[in-house]
Amino acid sequence: MLFKDEVVLVTGSTRGIGLSVAQAFAKEGALVIIIGRNQQQAKTVADEIKAQGFLADGFGCDVTVLAQVQETVNKILDIHKRIDILVNNAGITRDNLLLRLEESDWDEVIKVNLKGVFNVTKVVTKAMLKAKKGKVISISSVIGITGNAGQANYAASKAGVIAFSKSVAREFAQRNITANVVAPGYIRTDMTAKISEVMQQKLLEHIPLARFGETSDVAGVCLFLASPSANYITGQTIVVDGGLTI
Ligand code: NDP
Repeated sequence: MLFKDEVVLVTGSTRGIGLSVAQAFAKEGALVIIIGRNQQQAKTVADEIKAQGFLADGFGCDVTVLAQVQETVNKILDIHKRIDILVNNAGITRDNLLLRLEESDWDEVIKVNLKGVFNVTKVVTKAMLKAKKGKVISISSVIGITGNAGQANYAASKAGVIAFSKSVAREFAQRNITANVVAPGYIRTDMTAKISEVMQQKLLEHIPLARFGETSDVAGVCLFLASPSANYITGQTIVVDGGLTI
């Protein structure tokens, strides 16, 4: 088991990609910390993982509120003593063309997708520094590389995650902490279920592997980046998009 005795915190892991990432780490022996805004939901998801014979705990925490993140991480460290791996996954979309994009759409997306990554990374890396080891993996998006009409706020937030992670990688390289990014293309989750059938067909025509990704496609890359096989990789972005952006 690749991650036996390790504690892995995955933000936004009550469903979708985050849940799949948490399940994959749990199957490899890690104790996974489930985080979502709703405490009860996070606990229920953790209980479901435990019922399958794995190790998990759940906490309600809004990643946009630094004080809440600090309080939650303190609780996790009190109970579980360590956080070896952080996966910054929580993210939202509020899509619209720029002329129709409201200030609140901009603020909310930047707050969750970028400030949330700052908040959690800042607090968790402090514990990693003490432990003299750690792996930080952040989920960006191919949209953060290519941009997309109707997603200026989302694209800016996800590009920010890439630049932020490169800076974290440089700051912590000598402290045995790596920071990398996974940039998925279109993955089948609640987030992409909002895309119309017609648009889905159009998108498929541009994906060389001719299918949308599964959450497990992203989870596998997170496992790799957190594993000893990736010890010499930092500041990188791995695109998981079926060839969409070739
Ligand atoms: P989902 O909408 O399915 O899940 C989002 C998760 O984030 C939920 O668990 C949600 O829980 C949590 N969350 C949202 N806001 C907050 C917050 N403020 N604090 C804590 N948790 C929060 O999204 P996906 O699984 O599709 O996406 C996961 C990540 O992958 C996102 O960062 C997304 O941008 C990225 N991504 C997704 C792609 C896709 O095709 N699906 C493609 C590229 C990137 P709750 O609402 O209970 O708080």
